[in-house]
Amino acid sequence: MKFFISTLLLGAFSTAALASSASDWSNIMQPSKSGDMAQSIGKYDGGCVSGAVTLPMDGTGYQVMRLSRKRYFGHPDLIHFIENFGHAVSDQKLGTLLIGDLGQPRGGPTLSGHRSHQTGLDVDIWFSLPAIAATRKLDINERETLSANSMLISQSDAIDEKQWTAQHEKVLEAASRMPEVDRIFVNPSIKRLLCMRKTPHDWLRKIRPWWKHDDHFHVRLKCPGGSDHCTSQAPLPEDDGCDASLDYWFSAEAKKPKVPSPKPKAPRLPPLCDSVLNEN
Ligand SMILES: [Zn+2]
Repeated sequence: MKFFISTLLLGAFSTAALASSASDWSNIMQPSKSGDMAQSIGKYDGGCVSGAVTLPMDGTGYQVMRLSRKRYFGHPDLIHFIENFGHAVSDQKLGTLLIGDLGQPRGGPTLSGHRSHQTGLDVDIWFSLPAIAATRKLDINERETLSANSMLISQSDAIDEKQWTAQHEKVLEAASRMPEVDRIFVNPSIKRLLCMRKTPHDWLRKIRPWWKHDDHFHVRLKCPGGSDHCTSQAPLPEDDGCDASLDYWFSAEAKKPKVPSPKPKAPRLPPLCDSVLNEN
């Protein structure tokens, strides 16, 4: 009888282990080992990463903000992307990138802030390019307290011309032209502004309008080579997205406040993520 009960209990535990929660993922402090190769597993908004690495807190052309959040982990390809992008921005003298969230040590759902960023392939980068960051490293306190400036005039769709500069457009173009970048999310007003420019538009294809994203842009990389269980997002349309489809974002429908769902659905992750979570 004792044996029977303990078997039942074990059964209950292993079922519980399958339904991992956001707090299980946020409690993990170290990446899992990658075996032969780092892997992004599952979907951007329902997945995980094994063999993630840490983004150094400073590098050429970038500094990492909000270190206390510990969201500076990513697939090695994401870390290389940020380092290369920092170099490009520095070479073109566009300023210093302030890096917000990447992902958790093993990716997965977070308790706050994002639905995506789960597979180690997403990074938020601030639009603010403060002169102070170009002259010295920000201290830990500044990295917690400096805030990201919105590029919009408050409560409106209008771009704040005091904030927005030609540098911002060159920064977005540089990111968009990097082949490993799948897409970049920006506020619809920013997309609309870029569409009005008379300069070549091919790189605007990857620039996607999305809610908020007025104080940072969100770069998403393609599934890396060798990540066989990584689920790609539907391919982008062929055009530059500067057509009537952009109007939707300024409609009453798009602006309707979203009704928050009463209880966030438990994330459904691929079974492989259970091994990533449970690995010592
Ligand atoms: Zn983001």
